[in-house]
Amino acid sequence: MSESPIMSAPRSSTSPLAIRIHPDDNVAIVANEGGLAAGTVFPDGLTLRERVPQAHKIALTDLAEGEAIRRYNVVIGYAQKALPRGSWVHERVMTMPSAPTLDGLPIATVRAPELPPLEGYTFEGYRNADGSVGTRNILAITTTVQCVAGVVDFAVERIKSELLPLYPHVDDVIGLEHSYGCGVAIDAPDAVVPIRTLRNITLNPNFGGEVMVVSLGCEKLQPERLLPPGTIPIADQRGANVADEALDVVCLQDDAHVGFMSMIDSVMRQARVHLARLDARRRETVPASELVVGVQCGGSDAFSGVTANPAVGFCTDLLVRAGATVMFSEVTEVRDGIDQLTSRAATPEVAQAMIREMAWYDAYLDKGRVDRSANTTPGNKKGGLSNIVEKAMGSIVKSGSAPISGVISPGEKLHQKGLIYAATPASDFICGTLQLAAGMNLHVFTTGRGTPYGLAPVPVIKVATRSELARRWHDLMDVNAGRIADGDASIEDVGWELFHLMLDVASGRKKTWAERWKLHNALVLFNPAPVT
Ligand code: CA
Repeated sequence: MSESPIMSAPRSSTSPLAIRIHPDDNVAIVANEGGLAAGTVFPDGLTLRERVPQAHKIALTDLAEGEAIRRYNVVIGYAQKALPRGSWVHERVMTMPSAPTLDGLPIATVRAPELPPLEGYTFEGYRNADGSVGTRNILAITTTVQCVAGVVDFAVERIKSELLPLYPHVDDVIGLEHSYGCGVAIDAPDAVVPIRTLRNITLNPNFGGEVMVVSLGCEKLQPERLLPPGTIPIADQRGANVADEALDVVCLQDDAHVGFMSMIDSVMRQARVHLARLDARRRETVPASELVVGVQCGGSDAFSGVTANPAVGFCTDLLVRAGATVMFSEVTEVRDGIDQLTSRAATPEVAQAMIREMAWYDAYLDKGRVDRSANTTPGNKKGGLSNIVEKAMGSIVKSGSAPISGVISPGEKLHQKGLIYAATPASDFICGTLQLAAGMNLHVFTTGRGTPYGLAPVPVIKVATRSELARRWHDLMDVNAGRIADGDASIEDVGWELFHLMLDVASGRKKTWAERWKLHNALVLFNPAPVT
C-alpha cells in the first residue's frame, strides 16, 4: 500500500492494486477488474486470506473485534469479529455507527480555501426575460393532474411530427406529467412541496418562459393554484408589460370540447403560439457563471468516492470559481457527514439551515420507522459499499471544497449563485425533479453500477466510476473517470475534461448519450403529505 491518496498502476498491469484514500485508513479497496484471488501477495507482503471482489475492502492491519474500521479517515464501522490483515471487510462483518447528533456541530469553522476567480469561460445559451439562461430551447406543456397525461402524450406526439419541423430552432416539446394533482390532501402543510416543485419546474430556464397548461377541470390542483397571477415572468420583448396576461390553459372538461379531437386541436393551436415565440430565439454568448449545475449520483459503488465524485468535486470548484451555481443534494447521503458540511458553511445561518433540513428529514424517516441506513441498495453492497456511512463519505466529495453559500428546501427555486445545498431525497428521479425545480440547466450524474438515467428537460452528463463500465456501456456513459483508478488520468484531468464538456453540452455543440437516445425518466414529485 502507498501513503499517497491513490496508489495507481497502468491498466495493462496485472499486478494487484489496492486504493487507500487516507494514510490513516486501515482498509483499502481492490482496484483490479474481476477482483483478486485468495493468496494474492501485494508488493508490501500483504496476502489476501480470501477472494476479494473488485471495489471491496481489504484489512490493511489486524483488526480486533470491536475495532474501528476507517476509510476516508472516518469511522465507517466496527469489526464484528477479529479480522486479520488481508481479510475481506464487507457489510456482514461490520457494525454500522449511529448517525451523528445534530447538536454541538462545528458552525462555519473552516476557513475557505483560496479559490481564485476563473475568468474567460463562456457558453452559448438562451437568455430569458427573468435573467436566467437556458441550455436548450424546449416547449414544455404543464399539467395540473395525472388525469390529462394520456391526452397530453397524444398531443405531444402530434406536435412532434406535425409542428416541430416547422420551428427548426425549437429543440423539443415535452409534457410535464406527474402523479399529483388530485386524490391528495392538498391543504396539508407538506403539500407545499409537490405544488411548488411543479410550479418551479414550469419556470425552468430551458422552457424560455413560455407557459401553457393542460388541466382536466375538476381536479384539486386548479391552474390558478399551481400558477397564481404574477408567478410567470413574461418576456418584455413582446412589448407591453403582460405580467397580468391570462394563463394559457386548455381545460379538457370545457363545454366547448366535443370529442377527443377537439381537445387535441386546442392543445395544438395553443402550442403553435408558444412554438413561434421559442423559434424566434437564438443562442448568444454568455459567461460560464450562467450555468446552474445539479450534481448527483446513483447506482454508486466503492469507486464513486475515489474516481468520479472527486473529479466532479474538482469540477464543482472550477464552476464556483467561474461564478456559476452548483447544487448538491441527497439528504441521506450527506447525513453522516453533516459536521463536514456545517463547518464548510459560509455563514452560521447557512449551517443552521442545513441542520434544519437534516432534522426535518430525520423526523420524516422516523415516521416511516427507518433511518438514513434505508438508503443503500443491494447493488451498492455488491459494489463494495458496506453501509450508508461509507456511501455518504464518497458522495459528499462531489461538493468539492468551496464554502457552502446557501441552502434550499425541497421544491424551492434558487435565488443565489455559488455552491448550494439543495435538500432532496437521494432517489435519482426525485432528486433530479427537485433540482429541475430549483432551476438546473445542466445535470451531472455519476454511477458505478451503471444506470441509463436521463431527463427530458435538461442534458444529463453521465460519469462512470470504472473503466469496465465505461467500456461495456460505451454508448451510455459520457465520461470515464475510471481512468483515475487505472493510473491513466488524474482527478484534475478528468475534472477539467468534464468542465469543458459541460460548456460544449450547454452550448448545444455536443449532445449527451441520454439525449442522443432520448432516454427520459419520469418526473417524480416528492410528496411528504398524505394522499386521500
Ligand atoms: Ca441519487
